[in-house]
Amino acid sequence: MKKAYLGIDIGSISTKGVIINENRDVLASSYIWTEGNPVNAVKNLLKNMREDFDENKYSIVSVGTTGSARKLIGVVTGASVVKNEITAHAIGTTDKYPDVRTIFEIGGQDSKIILIDGGIVSDYAMNTLCAAGTGSFLSSQAKRLGVEVADFGEIALTSDNPTPIAARCTVFAESDLVHKAQMGHSKKDIIAGLCKAVVTNYLNNVCKGKKIVSPVVFQGGVSKNTGVKRAFEEAIGAQVLVDDYGHLAGAYGVAIIAKKSGAEKNFSFDITDVDFVTRGVNCGGCANSCEIICVYRSGELIDSWGNKCERGNTAVKTRF
Ligand code: SF4
Repeated sequence: MKKAYLGIDIGSISTKGVIINENRDVLASSYIWTEGNPVNAVKNLLKNMREDFDENKYSIVSVGTTGSARKLIGVVTGASVVKNEITAHAIGTTDKYPDVRTIFEIGGQDSKIILIDGGIVSDYAMNTLCAAGTGSFLSSQAKRLGVEVADFGEIALTSDNPTPIAARCTVFAESDLVHKAQMGHSKKDIIAGLCKAVVTNYLNNVCKGKKIVSPVVFQGGVSKNTGVKRAFEEAIGAQVLVDDYGHLAGAYGVAIIAKKSGAEKNFSFDITDVDFVTRGVNCGGCANSCEIICVYRSGELIDSWGNKCERGNTAVKTRF
């Protein structure tokens, strides 16, 4: 059996998975919506990837997880490594672009910039507060305009005169969009203006004070939007690189970290049939009132976290 490595990037909006071989070639991948249930999302993700994965030829010997629910999914999948998104994205990107200096990442609900120097992370910033620089903003405006968000990029490229849209925050942008539509601006110009607004917001908020150095790689679900890519290139006056696996960079990166860790643990797709339940419980042992997250597999407590002291562990085992 040949060895394979599984990386899972589980965020609040989307869940991404990649399986790679020893040469870091992608054997299977999937991208689905998390829909508020990370465990179910991962089960569906694994079912999707299993269809493309040759279990007679390969065996997954190590799993890595990243993203906001990385700890939970690390427990569920028996991961060897659990890493933050910044590290995972940086590793996944430098593997393909060894000279990369700047990574723009715009996802469904958050966005970040990672600066790389000499192959390692030198600085980063994240934005989780303002939706105007994220994919969810584009999705909601697409709905408002009656256009599929997947078509936004191509439509934006047909505009020579993007409508200026106030990009400070979602509320301003939305009312400005309605105003511009009433003034008779065409749909293609408004869509191109929205792509520019996302870029302006991102550069002004997430990249504030950061020096953008080429080569620049653009990732995350929004990197598929060619209108936003062009708006970035016009704004920074440099080429922006996007590749087919850009939306999977975190999962790819954490799969590489799992491979490099050398920590091997056999993984079975059968976890998709196992019943996992999570419960948040209040320790109540002192005024800190720690909220402890407990994970149960088929009714049995398999892990917990969130307690600030050891007494929380005892409380979880004896009281809950
Ligand atoms: S885990 Fe420790 S610090 Fe947190 S509430 Fe319980 S006793 Fe207090």
